[in-house]
Amino acid sequence: MKNILVVGGAGYIGSHTAKVLEEKGYTPVIYDNLTKGHKKAVRGYTFIKGDLGDKKKLAKVFAKHQIDAVMHFAAFTEVGESVLNPSKYYENNFCKVINLLDAMREANIKYFVFSSTAATFGEPIMEYIDENHPQKPINPYGSSKLMVETALKDYDTAYGLKSVCLRYFNACGAHPSGKIGESHSNESHLIPLVFQAALGKRDSIKIFGTDYPTTDGTCIRDYVHVCDLAAAHIAALEKMAETGGSDQYNLGTGSGYSVKQIIDMVKKVTGLEIKIEYGQRRAGDPAVLVASSEKARKILGWFPQYDLENIIKTVYKWEQKRKY
Ligand code: UDP
Repeated sequence: MKNILVVGGAGYIGSHTAKVLEEKGYTPVIYDNLTKGHKKAVRGYTFIKGDLGDKKKLAKVFAKHQIDAVMHFAAFTEVGESVLNPSKYYENNFCKVINLLDAMREANIKYFVFSSTAATFGEPIMEYIDENHPQKPINPYGSSKLMVETALKDYDTAYGLKSVCLRYFNACGAHPSGKIGESHSNESHLIPLVFQAALGKRDSIKIFGTDYPTTDGTCIRDYVHVCDLAAAHIAALEKMAETGGSDQYNLGTGSGYSVKQIIDMVKKVTGLEIKIEYGQRRAGDPAVLVASSEKARKILGWFPQYDLENIIKTVYKWEQKRKY
């Protein structure tokens, strides 16, 4: 197991995983259509500009680079957009993944690591969401990801294609080198937006809802560092190769922070003033989403290394000298 095709590898989580793969002695090969990704994020790696709909190109890449396993990061991830334009989400996040899996079957590649999401669970019915929580997504983004999870079970049964589904909670942070980080054209995520407000790139940060049943009234999320997620991918791949079995893991730190606590931590780390506005709740936001990652800890030996303060420090380093 050496050559890993990182599909969507020029995006946020894909580019960090490519870097951690390289640090651990693997050879990442990046396949990305650059609709969202950044070429600058994958300097120094083999890069192929290509689309997941292009089966012929995938076949060539598999053969030329002797690919042993595939990691998928090429999804669209905006919940609100998925509600307005579900076709875009089912086409890219489901149909194209099926295309990729069929290309893998034809090339006899047996191992697949899939970026899934806490959004496959829908409204939480327990405080810490573990792998036994019912999966009832409440938006097309979550549904498109769950459809792939379902297909993967069937592909294992019928074709012996082994997979691991990793359900991320709130991915955040940047590589400690400060050379790669989070960069979206229409940013909607909390931590990058708080930094924009701190660094004067926007006037203020608006808090979506202050009347949630939480200690300070704002939503609580489980923020997990992108390099910790990357490490989980590699641990999951290695475990799958060792046991020959497919599996699913929820990935979070098990600690929840409110929107206000995030803003306070950015203030503390940067020493900068941040203007706050208070707005209405955002549609589709549950009050609290926190993972139980006991299974990943026990089976993969995965322990997140970054606490909130260190997460925010890596973002500050990235934001101060970002190149894309
Ligand atoms: N949030 C906010 N203001 C913003 C963006 C996000 O108050 O400008 C809140 C959002 O309602 C949620 C949390 O911050 O409770 C994290 O949102 P984000 O979009 O970063 O991630 P999500 O939880 O949707 O995956």
